[in-house]
Amino acid sequence: MSHKKIVIIGAGISGLSAGCYARMNGYEVEIHEAHTQPGGLCTGWKRGEYWIDGCLHWLMASRPGSELHKVWEELGAVQGRQFYHHDVFSSLTGLDGRKLSFYTDVDRLEDHLNQLSPRDASATRAMCALIRRMGGFQAPIKTPEVMGPLGGVAMMAKMLPYMNDFMEISSLTLGQLGARFQDPLICQAISNVIWDDNIPALALILTLAQMNRKDAGFPLGGSLAFARSIAQRFLDLGGRIVYRSRVSKILERNGQVCGVQLADGAQVDADYVISASDLHKTLYALLDGSRVDPLHRQLLETGRTYAPMLMVTFGVNMDFSHEITCIGANYQLAAPLILGGMNYNQIGVKNYCYDPSMAPAGKSVVGAGFNADWKFWEGLPYNSPAYCDAKERILEMTQGTLEQYYPGFASRIEMVDVATPHSYERYTANRHGIFMSWVLDGEFQRRHPYIPKTVPGLGGLYLASMWTKAPGGVPGAALAGRDVVQIICRQEGKRFVAARP
Ligand SMILES: Cc1cc2nc3c(=O)[nH]c(=O)nc-3n(C[C@H](O)[C@H](O)[C@H](O)COP(=O)(O)OP(=O)(O)OC[C@H]3O[C@@H](n4cnc5c(N)ncnc54)[C@H](O)[C@@H]3O)c2cc1C
Repeated sequence: MSHKKIVIIGAGISGLSAGCYARMNGYEVEIHEAHTQPGGLCTGWKRGEYWIDGCLHWLMASRPGSELHKVWEELGAVQGRQFYHHDVFSSLTGLDGRKLSFYTDVDRLEDHLNQLSPRDASATRAMCALIRRMGGFQAPIKTPEVMGPLGGVAMMAKMLPYMNDFMEISSLTLGQLGARFQDPLICQAISNVIWDDNIPALALILTLAQMNRKDAGFPLGGSLAFARSIAQRFLDLGGRIVYRSRVSKILERNGQVCGVQLADGAQVDADYVISASDLHKTLYALLDGSRVDPLHRQLLETGRTYAPMLMVTFGVNMDFSHEITCIGANYQLAAPLILGGMNYNQIGVKNYCYDPSMAPAGKSVVGAGFNADWKFWEGLPYNSPAYCDAKERILEMTQGTLEQYYPGFASRIEMVDVATPHSYERYTANRHGIFMSWVLDGEFQRRHPYIPKTVPGLGGLYLASMWTKAPGGVPGAALAGRDVVQIICRQEGKRFVAARP
């Protein structure tokens, strides 16, 4: 048993994961979390008799058999948990009444696209063949940072069968994939499927490949329950979480961290500090901004991130179970919807009727999510009259638009909730309320196989969060936490241990 102590900043998925693995490897661990509960972005909240799930649409590696699934087991996140597997990833109904559904069964998807647009048979065949081929691909769980030369060779051997496909698609965006189709409905559906046509097309292909093999289900009970099970695993391993404890400074002595200072002025000693919170705030607010890795600087100054989210949610006394999709049933709009300084040519409607824990029987939680523009929200201080007006307008316009597709909707609303980029930033301290991290192209990833998890000139500090494992998400966060503990073990010359409960 090591007597070294690790303090972790943040009990999001990356902090909890780092905490679990640090305990498995014998460290004394204390997590300081600013909020009152674990999970960070992986959360949900109650509004009256409705439960708003604020995060997971699907969990990668929900099915046993992969290395990543073993990680979920090590973290106690999936044992005894049921997963709901969607038949439809998303849909788009055009102004002409035609409806495209991204079926998660790739054979059904291919038939459906062929029926919708016979002239796109060749593009459909190529995309569906790619989804099938990627069906066998399992994302590696170790970064080159921790795998060593032999591990690198083993990883290359596993990747080899997929190399041609990666070469073909790694630099393709969703917009470019959509443009391979002549039918405008298919083109728009693909381009906007994950809200932003600049997102790498690989994100869609890999997700559909995983869904086709029923390996990306929704954990019933929701995101917060999922996060709580990892927190419980950490406590069972003997870790300690201190809630309502905001770290205000990382303390150092002679180029080595020695602890943290809390917002109330108290100091906590530590041999190592793992920051499992926002990268910018860690480097420029918890530290003094004088020691920044050049790659971190480049990413923070010019890197492209996922856009922050604007989420409008309603609790309605209506049954939406006829229209279940994973990320949304979208409708093409005759005139653009202008919300929060952005123009939207479609609206996506998501309901959670597949999880009975979200709403009473016969009622539904219905959400519309939009990519938001931070520049718009930056100009509206949180809770200022202008901010509250903007939220009110967004609510009215979203409600009015949904009424067109679901007559009677407005009169059956029992609960409303608007989460803006400010809400996400206030709740998790992620800069600009961003919920997934970097959008990296293939070329960048070839040049930089990983994002550093240390800070130049400061020993004992490690960075584990979605910001050091692009593009983040719950798997990226969990793996970032695992990575830093491996790095610490390697630096101490210890064998890294991971165990299932
Ligand atoms: C609407 C939405 C949908 C999503 N859908 C999916 C999905 O389907 N699949 C998927 O895999 N991912 C999804 N994600 C993304 C995923 O939730 C995040 O990328 C991931 O949870 C990030 O984890 P993290 O631990 O890196 O950071 P965070 O969750 O941000 O955790 C950081 C924690 O640190 C705490 N903290 C920050 N500063 C301090 C401080 N100074 N002192 C103490 N504590 C501090 C915060 O309170 C927070 O709890 C979604 C997110 C959102 C918002």
